[in-house]
Amino acid sequence: MSWHADRDFTVTISGGSVAGLCNAITLRKLGATVRVHERVPGPMMARGAGIVVQNELMGLLEQNGAGPLPFTSCRGRRYLNSDGGDGVLQEMPQEFTSWEAIQAALRAGVPNECYRAGSEVVTVSQTGSRVSATLGDGSVAESDLFVAADGSGSAIRRKMIPDVEARYAGYVAWRGTLDESNVPSDLLAFFDDRFTFSEARNGGHMLAYFIPGSDGAVAAGSRRLNWVWYVHVDPTELTNVLTDKNGIRHRSSLPRGTTPERIIADLKARALRNIHPKMAALVSETRDPFLQTILDVTVPKTLFGRVLLTGDAAFVVRPHTAGGTAKAAYEASVLARALKSARANVDVALQSTERLQLEYGNALYQYGLALGNRWSRERSTD
Ligand SMILES: Cc1cc2nc3c(=O)[nH]c(=O)nc-3n(C[C@H](O)[C@H](O)[C@H](O)COP(=O)(O)OP(=O)(O)OC[C@H]3O[C@@H](n4cnc5c(N)ncnc54)[C@H](O)[C@@H]3O)c2cc1C
Repeated sequence: MSWHADRDFTVTISGGSVAGLCNAITLRKLGATVRVHERVPGPMMARGAGIVVQNELMGLLEQNGAGPLPFTSCRGRRYLNSDGGDGVLQEMPQEFTSWEAIQAALRAGVPNECYRAGSEVVTVSQTGSRVSATLGDGSVAESDLFVAADGSGSAIRRKMIPDVEARYAGYVAWRGTLDESNVPSDLLAFFDDRFTFSEARNGGHMLAYFIPGSDGAVAAGSRRLNWVWYVHVDPTELTNVLTDKNGIRHRSSLPRGTTPERIIADLKARALRNIHPKMAALVSETRDPFLQTILDVTVPKTLFGRVLLTGDAAFVVRPHTAGGTAKAAYEASVLARALKSARANVDVALQSTERLQLEYGNALYQYGLALGNRWSRERSTD
């Protein structure tokens, strides 16, 4: 039984990743009938690696009876410079998880009958208070609310606000993970129990921390050591770094396992020249580093009648904020709370959700910009 009226309140969600699943969980808890359409047919490919645990996501899982989410922890931070040495230590406990662990915890909270894999939303239109979503197989899904959680390249955002485009920030994130069992013992001892940062000689910086193993295991010996290295890449070079080993040009990130060998060899050589030797050793030990371009997306609106943009479809914030998944969780909780308190007045609830989304999204975006500018002031010369 729906919370708001004597009939079902139905929601269609495009995108079955973090934002789509957060909304599916909170809206189902409210009593809505939810259907998620995810265009990827099989299991979701891991796109991120390590993720700093944030309260917004933990709160959503706890309050909705979902999870548990496996996480690792450390006592504090270690700040290095590129010349070597043991750096400066700071007490600052922190917890970490992984993109796959979040995806698995959220997906377990959404029954299979509410989740359709291999189903692409092609377009949406609204008549009165009903939204029709046309799907890739030609069928139409009708609902009272449509939540567009279809990521940074959102087709629904392009339809609603065609002027908004993702802007390349001028640098990329190289990412890698090493199974703990393959990490040489001197590196293990150096990185264990610390969230480690290093400035790089050519600008940018690198960070490393332990995350759960790919099966979610968090015991010592089963974890992975995760690193991220922010590197300037001239826009004219993007096609080169975004073309995988099969010659396919990707839009914004290279999936894991597809980076050409010559690019990996070049990355490892540059690491030796530019970053702390222990960080360079991590890059060198990693078989399959993968790349994510850093993009900025901001929107003037998230609400179009009964169509709501959320997650990366609305704002794409810089990863230095560690805030992308937290924002998705926050927005899903805000929407559910607003619908609950406005009861039958769905449009009032959506308007108040949009106000909070814009406030939070703009603030996080500006924060990410400030962090990114601080760390990327010097241009690459290597
Ligand atoms: C490579 C990479 C690494 C990242 N690392 C981190 C990190 O370390 N920490 C952090 O906090 N955040 C990270 N993020 C960001 C974080 O993953 C997102 O902010 C968060 O997951 C919210 O994403 P989302 O669900 O809105 O979009 P996405 O995760 O992009 O999901 C969008 C989903 O929609 C589906 N889709 C797209 N179009 C359609 C359609 N027309 N019909 C149906 N389905 C569709 C896609 O297949 C996809 O599954 C990373 C992102 C990327 C790309």
